[in-house]
Amino acid sequence: MPPIRAGASTLIFLCSGLFSSSLFGQSGYTMNLNPATVPAGGSGFSLDVSFNGNSQVAPQPKSSWIVRWNGSPRPTHFTQSNGPADIKADISASDIATPGIAEISVLDSDTGQVYSITRWFVVPVDINGADFAYDAGRRQYASIAVLETLVRRCPDDALKLLAVTERDLFIPVLTFVYGHAQLGGRAAVVSLARLRQEFFGLPGNPGLLVQRALKEALHETGHTFGLVHCADGGCAMSLSTNIRQIDLKRAAFCAACAARLRRRPGAART
Ligand SMILES: [Zn+2]
Ligand SMILES: [Zn+2]
Repeated sequence: MPPIRAGASTLIFLCSGLFSSSLFGQSGYTMNLNPATVPAGGSGFSLDVSFNGNSQVAPQPKSSWIVRWNGSPRPTHFTQSNGPADIKADISASDIATPGIAEISVLDSDTGQVYSITRWFVVPVDINGADFAYDAGRRQYASIAVLETLVRRCPDDALKLLAVTERDLFIPVLTFVYGHAQLGGRAAVVSLARLRQEFFGLPGNPGLLVQRALKEALHETGHTFGLVHCADGGCAMSLSTNIRQIDLKRAAFCAACAARLRRRPGAART
C-alpha cells in the first residue's frame, strides 16, 4: 500500500499495488517499485525495481535485464557492489509529463523472459478540493458529483482512477458510503472519514486505517472491473455497511472473484 496523501484540501490520489501478484496469487513473488509514485510534470528520475518472495521463484536481478515503461525499454543499470544486486532505470521527464498510469515490466534480454507481474506506476492527478460536491444540508459530500468529476479528469491513458478522500461521502438514499465506483467504468472514490478509529472516539491506529482503506480501495476498484457484491463475507467484494464488516473481510478477493477479475478486459495485461 503506498502512502495515502489526502489532506483536507486534497481530494485525489491514485492507488498503486492493486494489481500486484500477491492478489492474483499465482507467482509467489511481487515486484516493488521505488518510488511508487511521482508528481506529473516533474523532472526525470531513477526508478528502482526489485522483487520479493520465495528465493526459488523470485527473479534475481541480472545485467541482461531491461526495464520497460509501457512496454518500451528504458536505460537500465545493474549494480552488484557489496549489497544485493540492484536494478535502476532512467525515466525521463517526458515519460511523466502528464498524469496517468504506466505499466512497468522487466525483460531479460538473454532469455527473452518477461517478468510481467505488472505493477501500476502511478502519477497523481490533482483535483482542487471537493467543495463542488458539498451538500450543506447534510454536511457531507455527494459521491456521485465526485465520480462525475473523476470521469472528466481521468487521463486518457489511465486504466482506472481511484480517489482517496478525507471527506465523508453520501448518496441520497444512504446515510453515508465508504466509497463509490462506476460499475465497469474507470472511476472510483474511497472515503477515509469513517475508517479512522478516531471516528468512533478511539485512539488512532494508522495500521488499521491502512488495512481498512486497502480493503475498500480493492472493493471499489473491483466494481470498476465489473465485479458485483460477493456473498463471501471474507472477500473484499462483500458489501460493508459498518466497520465491523470491513474488519472481518480480507484485503483480497475470494477465488471466485479473483477468477472473474482475471477474465475482465484490462484486468490481465500481463
Ligand atoms: Zn460495493
Ligand atoms: Zn468474492
